[in-house]
Amino acid sequence: MSTMIRCISPIDGSVFAERPAMPAEAARAAVDGARRLQKEWAARPLAERVALVRAGVERLGAMNDEVVPELARMMGRPVRYGGEFRGVNERASYMADIAGTALAPIVVEDSDRFERRILREPHGVVFVVAPWNYPYMTAINTVAPALIAGNAVALKHASQTLLVGERMVRAFEEAGLPKGLFVNLFLDHATTEALIAGRAFDFVNFTGSVGGGRAIERAAAGTFTGLGLELGGKDPGYVMDDADVAAAADTLIDGAMFNSGQCCCGIERIYVVDRLYDDFVAKSVAIVEGYRLGNPLDPETTLGPMANRRFADEARAQVSEAVAAGAKPLIGRQLFPADDGGTYLMPQILVDVTHDMAVMRDETFAPVVGIMKVSGDDEAVALMNDSQFGLTASLWTRDPGRAAALGARIETGTVFMNRADYLDPGLCWTGCKDTGRGGALSPIGFQNLTRPKSYHLKKA
Ligand code: NAP
Repeated sequence: MSTMIRCISPIDGSVFAERPAMPAEAARAAVDGARRLQKEWAARPLAERVALVRAGVERLGAMNDEVVPELARMMGRPVRYGGEFRGVNERASYMADIAGTALAPIVVEDSDRFERRILREPHGVVFVVAPWNYPYMTAINTVAPALIAGNAVALKHASQTLLVGERMVRAFEEAGLPKGLFVNLFLDHATTEALIAGRAFDFVNFTGSVGGGRAIERAAAGTFTGLGLELGGKDPGYVMDDADVAAAADTLIDGAMFNSGQCCCGIERIYVVDRLYDDFVAKSVAIVEGYRLGNPLDPETTLGPMANRRFADEARAQVSEAVAAGAKPLIGRQLFPADDGGTYLMPQILVDVTHDMAVMRDETFAPVVGIMKVSGDDEAVALMNDSQFGLTASLWTRDPGRAAALGARIETGTVFMNRADYLDPGLCWTGCKDTGRGGALSPIGFQNLTRPKSYHLKKA
């Protein structure tokens, strides 16, 4: 008897969906089947692969009316936000648009005597391990360019968003992708790791927690399987003395609270220059006081429950620890009667915080943000870099030169100026430190999903 993988709905704790975990042999057979189809797929013209991926994405878009309430039930995002199709389409379309140039051979010499060039070769089977927090957008970052580049794809989605992989495969197959080239696997951790250790895949892209990333890296050790690891963050915002305070508060607080703070590049800590501090804090509190916590199926709800009880417990523990150590919570509990001590967690802004507190060091992944006053750039840079993570940093100033100069001193994957919490498919999505390694989207995403192959042809 195989064990069941369950999605427990954060709305009411009921079992929303369950699927039997695949035994290793069945998973291996599905992956080997995909591998057999891959060569023929890679031999098709690029334009044909691009067209089928675009059609698959379009088919997924046509399912949006089902997807939106399903997402609310699985992970709690309010229906008013309309799902993820806009981002999915933007990213997949961009990768489709640039595929021709990003995958073009680099011709070094084409003369009477030599042909020398570097081609991009697909890896074979790309394995995508995806998280629940943006289940379609995180998966499409790899699924679309991997297929376009001529790979087969195996997807293992998070238990919390159990039905996403199944639905994505269905959309692509309905759009005409060869059946069995893109496979969804329901896997437990042990089987996932055993498959990686057994060299079932030619490249693994893991998006998730630092602990999960470590387990995947350990499983892959010695197999020489390429890895992309997109892990956690503790992203800072820094409001400089020439910033537009209202715009900064709007974007940084939205970046901290949207999706109940469950975003890898969500804003988790904010530093504000002393002159603007009181104004920024007042504006931030006013924004948060306007949120409505409740059932994500209710169109009035702006903040849904946390995806899982254990994430809400962790956030509450961080807030209590910070308050016990002297932090001041600015949001009154009475404004959020829906907070039930379980998955429904009220948002919170903490001031008088320090870097000795977990809430300013560990990933919180919840609608909670700490705000600290700083004297200027040097102190802000030191605090922003005082972190084990490095995903994005959001700088607020009217001076791009100053932002770029400061950005050069920040240990991070992306430097934002006057924006936050957004993946631009034209840029490389990447991180440093415990945020992992690799890079998705942009031409670099294609490079990571292919390997270089050199041709050195001497004419006799
Ligand atoms: P997670 O617990 O690490 O899970 C991510 C995925 O990996 C899930 O499919 C999970 O399966 C699987 N998994 C976890 N540990 C595993 C193991 N030892 N062996 C095999 N598979 C394993 O992360 P999450 O809670 O879903 O996602 C939240 C985390 O993802 C946060 O830390 C967030 O910052 C990070 N994230 C990063 C990015 C980025 O681009 N850098 C983007 C989104 C999210 P199960 O669900 O079945 O456990």
